[in-house]
Amino acid sequence: MSKRPAILHFHGYLADLLRRDEPGPDARGMVIYPVTRRASIKDIIEALGPPHTEIGRIEADGREVGFGHLLEPGEEVDLRPLAAPFNVLRPSLLRPEPLPRIAFAVDANAGQLATLLRTLGFDTAYDRTLDDTPLAELAAREGRIVLSKDRGLLKRSLVVFGCLIRTDKPHEQLRAILRLFDLRPPYHLFSRCLLCNVPLEPVPKAEIMHRLLPLTRQHYSDFHRCPSCDKIYWPGSHHDHMRERIEKICRDLFMDSAGSNTSPGPDKRNPPV
Ligand SMILES: [Zn+2]
Repeated sequence: MSKRPAILHFHGYLADLLRRDEPGPDARGMVIYPVTRRASIKDIIEALGPPHTEIGRIEADGREVGFGHLLEPGEEVDLRPLAAPFNVLRPSLLRPEPLPRIAFAVDANAGQLATLLRTLGFDTAYDRTLDDTPLAELAAREGRIVLSKDRGLLKRSLVVFGCLIRTDKPHEQLRAILRLFDLRPPYHLFSRCLLCNVPLEPVPKAEIMHRLLPLTRQHYSDFHRCPSCDKIYWPGSHHDHMRERIEKICRDLFMDSAGSNTSPGPDKRNPPV
């Protein structure tokens, strides 16, 4: 006697991530799945296309289940994508070990996003020479959210928290990340080295005077230095430009909270209790 197939409903953008080869999902993200082996729902989801990092909730016959759930014949499963606000500092059924803080590991395919996140003050590991394996290991070891365009990287079991980057425009990528993880202002703008990710330290002007161009020497008095690479930073016109762009993004995303100091900044969030 043949077993009844399971029916999987991939909601939202998860439907766009389904493989389009045989037998193929229908246009609404429904997959009729013959249960021929004992497999976890996580393995089945990833074999069909979407990385586990994109899944926000799984319901089997209306009951919320974890990634280890074994699919049963005849079962009807709803798979919903990550939805904002996604709080990585709280445990959930899918991700019982929360992160202790907000920190990112950005893949080589999204370098400009890494620079933007560092500009806002977020701890962001980025090394474009790292392959998938060391990047996944780094994220696991240091508790970082992996941001990548590469589904293969996000399917690795070492990667617990991640987000698939689905646009090529860096400011759109930043907007998506701020929105998903609900990262509201105030930010610690210009507090990190854009090259090293290391927090900057103030440095007396007199100490670095000899390294400044005449106009910089004339017009600026506040300087910071990267203790790692020794690069010098000062609040030039690009700061105002960047601040305006960030304020606009926050106005669009968080409406009344842009510019207000009502919510905790990225480094001030309390760990879950
Ligand atoms: Zn540096």
